[in-house]
Amino acid sequence: MTALFPTYKRFNLSVERASGTTVEDTDGKSYLDFGAGIGVCSLGHRHPSVQEALQTQLNAYWHVSNLYHNPVQENVANLLTQYSSGDQVFFCNSGTEANEAAIKLARKATGKHKMITFNQSFHGRTLGAMAATGQEKIHNGFGPMLETFQYVPFNDNETLKQVIDGETAAVMLEVVQGEGGINPADTDFVQELERVCQENDVLLIVDEVQTGIGRTGKPFAYQHYGISPDIITSAKGLADGVPVGAMIAKDKLRDAFGPGSHAATFGGNPLAMAAAEAVLKHVFQDGFLQEVTDKSNYLMDCLNELIKPLPVVSSIRGKGLMIGIECSQNVSHLVEALIEKGLLVLSAGPNVLRLLPPLIVSKEEIDQAVDLLSEVLSDEKVSAH
Ligand SMILES: *Cc1c(COP(=O)(O)O)cnc(C)c1O
Repeated sequence: MTALFPTYKRFNLSVERASGTTVEDTDGKSYLDFGAGIGVCSLGHRHPSVQEALQTQLNAYWHVSNLYHNPVQENVANLLTQYSSGDQVFFCNSGTEANEAAIKLARKATGKHKMITFNQSFHGRTLGAMAATGQEKIHNGFGPMLETFQYVPFNDNETLKQVIDGETAAVMLEVVQGEGGINPADTDFVQELERVCQENDVLLIVDEVQTGIGRTGKPFAYQHYGISPDIITSAKGLADGVPVGAMIAKDKLRDAFGPGSHAATFGGNPLAMAAAEAVLKHVFQDGFLQEVTDKSNYLMDCLNELIKPLPVVSSIRGKGLMIGIECSQNVSHLVEALIEKGLLVLSAGPNVLRLLPPLIVSKEEIDQAVDLLSEVLSDEKVSAH
């Protein structure tokens, strides 16, 4: 018996400590971490520069509220707006909260409430973010959903064009769907989508909670597509494991979030901001994202050569260090078998193995991970499961 709600189906691993790309369990066994806490520990576990920033902030102050100025918040907001199409930032504590802020801002700024999202999307678990999520399994038992969300097919603008109208406040999308199975959007689709939004005076929100902060080799994944979203949400990889969320928006939306309109007690917490500032300085420094891209190309080449030909594998796709290996079967026993061998990976939907290694992963560690994947995915006992 446990005093915790059984909301998570947990693997048989109890964590003792973690460092860099390595997690160690309570029996002293080490694991190579290609999940990074679901894309959260972007610089690996306990990155020295983040640890130092946290230590400094621990010695200064932990919380005094948003009633007073916090210079570290300003620094993080400056970095986020410098590297994105946005002009100002609202800080909160999670991806869900960032999307809630985006939904509320879009409603308030436009005076409209209809929103369009995509099948297989994932935007979070609160009532608004859950309603935005285009997956029935996330809605089950929690209905009725907010009725003003409409779901349309991903990578296909035809239905969207029929549904979008003068009542639509915003369209929200992930340019690489994460939880929905690692589905990258087509460039034509995204550019056309932006054009349709502009034509209809509809805001474009990009959910970069999983794809942002260097995960795909750009500061934000939408930058692969040559678009300029009105609102961007960020969370997971932003503070290397300290809870944080951010909603970044263009200047034209500034006045809709005036004093008293929205708030979060813990939003922009000094510890989270100190960690985020250290992460952004590291990820945005010259050359870092080029290394991420190089390692991504190397990992993709290895996977295409050694993993793609295996009978159990049906396709490999992704962007940067966000990669899905689609299998012809349910992958949960494969994840278990990989943990047994000392490699932590994630799944995305029933049939996709998901790799989100820390951005600081080395080529040697990529080789090790590919070897372990090859061993487990070519094991006939496992793949015949
Ligand atoms: C994880 C995720 C969320 C939800 O973030 P939480 O921090 O769990 O609330 C929202 N959108 C996307 C794309 C995500 O991957």
